[in-house]
Amino acid sequence: MTRVDHRHRHLDRIAEVRAGRHAEKVGYPIHLRETEVVRTTMVGSGLLRVTLGGPGAKGFEAHAPDEHVKLIFPEPDGSLRLPERNGMMLRWPRPAPTSREYTVRRYDPVAGEIDIDIAPHDGGLASGWAQAVQPGAVLHVAGPPGGLIVPHTYDRYLLAGDITALPAIARWLEELPRGARGWAFVEVADAAQEIELSAPQGVEVRWLHRGDRPAGTGDALARAVTAVTVPEGERVYVWAAGEAGQIKPLRRWVRDELRLEKADHDITGYWKRGVADFDEDDD
Ligand SMILES: Cc1cc2nc3c(=O)[nH]c(=O)nc-3n(C[C@H](O)[C@H](O)[C@H](O)COP(=O)(O)OP(=O)(O)OC[C@H]3O[C@@H](n4cnc5c(N)ncnc54)[C@H](O)[C@@H]3O)c2cc1C
Repeated sequence: MTRVDHRHRHLDRIAEVRAGRHAEKVGYPIHLRETEVVRTTMVGSGLLRVTLGGPGAKGFEAHAPDEHVKLIFPEPDGSLRLPERNGMMLRWPRPAPTSREYTVRRYDPVAGEIDIDIAPHDGGLASGWAQAVQPGAVLHVAGPPGGLIVPHTYDRYLLAGDITALPAIARWLEELPRGARGWAFVEVADAAQEIELSAPQGVEVRWLHRGDRPAGTGDALARAVTAVTVPEGERVYVWAAGEAGQIKPLRRWVRDELRLEKADHDITGYWKRGVADFDEDDD
């Protein structure tokens, strides 16, 4: 009797979607990992890179630029509540443990290291943890639950976001074929927050400086993006993430102006001003 190996089924699906015409979210088997902080480094002045390693980081899978993990933190009373493995999924205790979502910026299978780039800000649990953490600290990481697989057959790619989306945009730009064309718009406070990006030559990168305005305010990002003209007859994929209110106008724009199908765009609120542990699905 032949046994089907379900552990790798997602890899076949990823290959199928990549070879197709439209993007699709593909689920992966979800793991809980006990990792160790190896080091922290600044990436520009706006991102604090936390590099995770240790035996628990081995065998991590990374397939798509926007894939993310949940960092699980102890509860206010110091206890740590963790999900349990349930087949290919995790069973989460109720109420849900304290966690925050972050993009997988990089997985290095040789070194067995995962990089998470955290934008420090005032009054944030994860942000405060990242600023204080020392090498050797233990961090439990759940996921990624899957990834958005986008075929490389679109004529143009339009990427947009604030500093919380920059880790994903940096990965997008690295992973696009070198012949890809399009635009990337990133809102940062100032030039010191700009980072080195390896963008294909045909992708125009535009940094927008917010200056003294608080993060998540103003319409500069939406104005810059919606001024783009997609050449007649070309297929575009739009990916945007950032503060929920700031990226809202982009949803209307892709629907009413670009008239994109659902599978040809992905616009996600990564955080919301005044809301801790924002989850777009609860909004
Ligand atoms: C799929 C996904 C991927 C993400 N990837 C990244 C990533 O790679 N890097 C990253 O930095 N963030 C990323 N984020 C956003 C991050 O999860 C949120 O910013 C989160 O709220 C930060 O948690 P915290 O504990 O620091 O703040 P919280 O305790 O959640 O919030 C406390 C207060 O801080 C405010 N706040 C939250 N984030 C910010 C911010 N960035 N700037 C200013 N004020 C803020 C809140 O509105 C709230 O008032 C991602 C979010 C999602 C959903």
